[in-house]
Amino acid sequence: MALDKAFIKEMETGLKEEKIKLTAQLAEISTNSSRNPGENTASFPNFGDAEDENAAEVTTFSNNLTLERTLETNLRDVDKALASIAAGKYGICKYCHKEIDEKRLRARPASSSCIDCKKKLTLEG
Ligand SMILES: [Zn+2]
Repeated sequence: MALDKAFIKEMETGLKEEKIKLTAQLAEISTNSSRNPGENTASFPNFGDAEDENAAEVTTFSNNLTLERTLETNLRDVDKALASIAAGKYGICKYCHKEIDEKRLRARPASSSCIDCKKKLTLEG
């Protein structure tokens, strides 16, 4: 049973919205490197020069750094999913090449592996 076109279209719309959201979030907390487009650098905030302000800057910066990595990874997954739609290979598990369950895709449209493979990978660490 192949995924139907309407479903794929729905996922594509969701992924594009997700991409816009992720890009906006990334822009808020990081600066895009002109040397490496697609590579972002977390912004270092400037609250002031007092000791507690400096400490708060470091905390915010490290939070930004973590968030930036998460957002970048998510954005990469979304891009991959959009590319697979364009290639007509959306919804195929990258490990076992079987179709990914629609429910799983609906919950996470950027999924690139089926639940079984994901479970196996998690168990293997
Ligand atoms: Zn699989």
